[in-house]
Amino acid sequence: MEYESPTTGTALELDAPVAVLPGIGAKRAALLAGLGIVSLRDLVWHLPRRYEDRRSFAPLGGLAEDDEATVMGTVTAAREVRLRGRQTLAVVEISDGTGSIKATFFGRGFLVRSVFKKGARLILSGRVGQYKGLSLDNPDYEALDEDAEREPLHTGRLVPVYPLTEGLSQRDLRRWVWQALGAVDLSGADIAPEPLRRKHALSPAAEALRQAHFPDTPEASKAARKALAYDEVLALQARLLMERAEASQPGRGLQHRVNGPLLKALHGRLPFPLTDAQDRVVSLILGDMASDRPMRRLVQGDVGCGKTVVALHAVAVCLDTGAQAAVMAPTEILAEQHYLNFRDWLEPLGVRMELLTGSAKGAAAARNRLASGESQLAVGTHSLIQDSTGFARLGLAIIDEQHRFGVAQRERLAGKAEHEPDVLQLSATPIPRTLALTLYGHMDVSVIDQLPPGRQPVETRHVQARGLDKMYREVHVQIAEGRQVYVVCPLVEGSTEREAKAVLEHFEDLEAGPFAGLRLGLLHGRMKPDEKDAVMRAFKAGATQVLVSTTVIEVGVDVPNASVMIIEDAHQFSLTQLHQLRGRIGRGAHESVCYLTGKPTTKPGRQRIERICALSSGFDVAEADLAMRGPGEVFGFKQAGLSEFRVADLLADTRLLETAREDAEALLAEDAQLAKPEHAALKRRVQAFQGEAGR
Ligand code: ADP
Ligand code: MG
Repeated sequence: MEYESPTTGTALELDAPVAVLPGIGAKRAALLAGLGIVSLRDLVWHLPRRYEDRRSFAPLGGLAEDDEATVMGTVTAAREVRLRGRQTLAVVEISDGTGSIKATFFGRGFLVRSVFKKGARLILSGRVGQYKGLSLDNPDYEALDEDAEREPLHTGRLVPVYPLTEGLSQRDLRRWVWQALGAVDLSGADIAPEPLRRKHALSPAAEALRQAHFPDTPEASKAARKALAYDEVLALQARLLMERAEASQPGRGLQHRVNGPLLKALHGRLPFPLTDAQDRVVSLILGDMASDRPMRRLVQGDVGCGKTVVALHAVAVCLDTGAQAAVMAPTEILAEQHYLNFRDWLEPLGVRMELLTGSAKGAAAARNRLASGESQLAVGTHSLIQDSTGFARLGLAIIDEQHRFGVAQRERLAGKAEHEPDVLQLSATPIPRTLALTLYGHMDVSVIDQLPPGRQPVETRHVQARGLDKMYREVHVQIAEGRQVYVVCPLVEGSTEREAKAVLEHFEDLEAGPFAGLRLGLLHGRMKPDEKDAVMRAFKAGATQVLVSTTVIEVGVDVPNASVMIIEDAHQFSLTQLHQLRGRIGRGAHESVCYLTGKPTTKPGRQRIERICALSSGFDVAEADLAMRGPGEVFGFKQAGLSEFRVADLLADTRLLETAREDAEALLAEDAQLAKPEHAALKRRVQAFQGEAGR
């Protein structure tokens, strides 16, 4: 009876808790919850990581040690062995006419009494080991009842292998999934409406789920996963499109004034002409802001392409309208940099602004000035979206390096205004089209695909231990010519305190050794904001020649005279981090060199060093990083409300994604609110996505 569906008479609801299944009590329900499985819906959507092919039986006579084998035979002997304590062992022998083999089941002597009866037919799967002759240790087993027409779950088929957690076995999961598939009502589980299912020849969800867990053939599992993925992707695209339609409704946005005095004054003060790419993107932004639809624009551009000055234009337009602007950055250092930058540009023009970070002084007074409308611009970190920050009239939110922010955080910033504020996001991590569709399908995306003229490409070199002396000599030549140097210390995971200590030690070594007699600065995350500020100012002003720091300088820091960077133990950093770091140099007209020290001990470490030396464009680096680390790590998908397996499927299939995008567009053109009964399931899924994204 083990695998039969619970005979409750009526089908179970998909949203019923897993504990309705026999064998799942509070303890196992808690373990399942750890895997994100709470309802039967979660359970049947917990797809296998892979399958093991146990479809054909190997003849027992032909087995050799180390084979992964699935065998079938009749029990010729079985005994229960008592070990020390209360442990037991089942030892069973089966034969199939060509030979025989022993199998041992540690801790499960009881199986001899319940399952391994003499003459019973068994299927076993596992690795062939050597213990007094060939043997299988703790193989998966399946007993074949002569009279029961049951399908084997663990052997004799393509067997699913699930992501697991300590305390649960593959056997448990297979059995529960099987029971759930047999017991729940899956008739409402089809998300894509019928015409689309027919158009793409997708099987119904009930069948697709069965084949995704217990496929008849490898092809069937692929087709099933595609059908399930299509449902997901269609719902995702529908959600993004609906969100976009909702956010950009005419009349909901502020119509900004795009030719006001501040913008003109700013133009007059620019020390350089905008690049064509900057110009194009500024025009797009001004167009968005002049319209009565709220702006939702993402601007991507490699480090150093000049996103800040583009953002500055948007700020000027917003302030000309009489509204306030907020600029949000992922780290305090970057927020402070932006603050100083914006202040240099805007304070001479009479703009009043505030810095709001976790540790900036006078936060309460600053908040009051923003709430009363006395201050026009706020620059800060997450502190900006704390509930106590209120704006009198927020008209624009700029979010820098936005892939570090969760969706919910972005929404909260936007949600602070009476009108929908315009939202401009900036990113230095370019995103391939598939991902852009997935993550930013609700936004307009534009790219600054050009660097300001006269930039020298950063030459990147790996320096071995024996090359260090030569490196320091070259660096000294640069310093003698007036250039400045960054030294980035190795990553110390886990504790900013230990990292600060490591940086201090390195600083002292350099001060006493290779850089003796030079003016050195020290920067790390544990310093107080005004200390950091003083250090950055000294470096910017050229008073400090060498800045020794942690990755706090990874994003945004801008000192054009700095033309040399040394990244210590560079193999510990990700490709994207290395690219961001070296983006701090090569910003002026000086030839720039980035030295990477350290001896990579792993293959990925060596590959990263090799790739970063060879690649110079941020797009190429992003692609290589994606290929090496996977999208979850690079872009933080969890934040977008997408589980890893879904995304993996999405990435593998660009065409599916684009098709789903078009399908969703056509569908919403007909039924913008998904109000028709045939769209009810899709609507439910869209709403569930919103729940997952934390809104
Ligand atoms: P990022 O896109 O990495 O944020 P920044 O906005 O910090 O880049 O700009 C990098 C540097 O380039 C700054 O020193 C900035 O003043 C300068 N810059 C920006 N636009 C231009 C331009 N059109 N011509 C010359 N220099 C520019
Ligand atoms: Mg920037």
